[in-house]
Amino acid sequence: MATVTLKPKRAKPFFYKHPWIYSGAVERVDGDPQDGDVVDVLESEGKFIAKGFYSVRSQIRIRLLTWEPTDQVDEEFLRKRLLEAVELRKNYLKLDEQSTAYRLVYSEGDSLPGLIVDKFDEFFVVQFLCSGMDKHKETILDILQDLLSPRGIFERSDSDVRTKEGLTLTSGVLRGEEPPERLEIKENGLRFYVDIKHGQKTGFYLDQRENRLSALRFADGRKVLDCFCYTGGFSIYAGGLGRAKYVLGIDESERNLELARENASLNGVREVEFRAGNVFEELRYLRNSGQKFDMIILDPPKFARSKKEVESAKRGYKDINLLAMQCLEPGGILVTCSCSQHIDEAGFESVINSASVDVGRTVQIIERRTQASDHPVLSSCPETRYLKCLICRIF
Ligand code: SAH
Repeated sequence: MATVTLKPKRAKPFFYKHPWIYSGAVERVDGDPQDGDVVDVLESEGKFIAKGFYSVRSQIRIRLLTWEPTDQVDEEFLRKRLLEAVELRKNYLKLDEQSTAYRLVYSEGDSLPGLIVDKFDEFFVVQFLCSGMDKHKETILDILQDLLSPRGIFERSDSDVRTKEGLTLTSGVLRGEEPPERLEIKENGLRFYVDIKHGQKTGFYLDQRENRLSALRFADGRKVLDCFCYTGGFSIYAGGLGRAKYVLGIDESERNLELARENASLNGVREVEFRAGNVFEELRYLRNSGQKFDMIILDPPKFARSKKEVESAKRGYKDINLLAMQCLEPGGILVTCSCSQHIDEAGFESVINSASVDVGRTVQIIERRTQASDHPVLSSCPETRYLKCLICRIF
């Protein structure tokens, strides 16, 4: 087996089980490992640290899989990890009682770096996001088929991160039947159509399931604005289970809104309108024309995709939050999210505070929330905790 030796004094994070070794920490590579091969990682004096997937091109040169020197990364190893992931959802979280759609495997969060498996009713959507996992694709598909017998497995490995690994973007049927254009899922008693083949990410934002449920408690009888509404997740929770008086959902994509409207009728939610527009402009317009809401949801896409983008991302977050505060009645509810992994909770809260100071409002944080529990966080890898969701009362 090939070995990678780290530079002196660079091994500590990996003894503490951080799973990503960047190229800058590597001193020497022996044995000519190929893309996706499993390598042994040694500290500078030659002591074994861990094993992981080697990547020839990525800045993340190695994704660590195990700290046991005797482990072999084979079918048995992958089956055990996949079983542990499935058990969490089924036996611990009992997600089948709540939803027909959830994340079965969350990459590093399930100690399976680079692998995402989302269940949408009888169909699975998979993403292989690093070359090591990509190499084990057939084995993983066999195990999933064997453990859970999905009707079909569809690949959505069309995320940009694959290019950093030198992998091509690809999407299509891998096993079984092709999923329908509109697949219906049930989440907390609500029904949603999901477009697995063309929707964003794998089709539906499963990570917001618990936040949508929590937010709807504040919607009763209220006038709600759902910004970046996608296919209507928060809107339909608020207007359906939450009994909001009226909901306006805004998204830039007409295609998403078509599905949002269908989702509203699927649930018999009538007091809801969806409008295409740029949230930055729409919020300015609503503020300037003096329109007020009792509850506003902000669930924007990732503004900071790298450390370099953090400052400009913070300006973007501040802008929309400040405008939303100005559109809220005193005592109104702001549900504000950020899925930028490079901005932590404290950083996000300080942006919210700074927005409130600029517009002379007071923010009372009622709940600090994060991604749903089928996106578990690895204590050794803070990067696995990416979603922040604050529920605030604004005075
Ligand atoms: N809240 C949604 C998920 C939001 S994802 C849910 O619970 O399902 C972010 C959405 O923002 C995407 O649908 C994208 O089309 C939209 N979007 C991105 N930039 C935008 C902008 N500037 N104005 C309006 N919508 C935007």
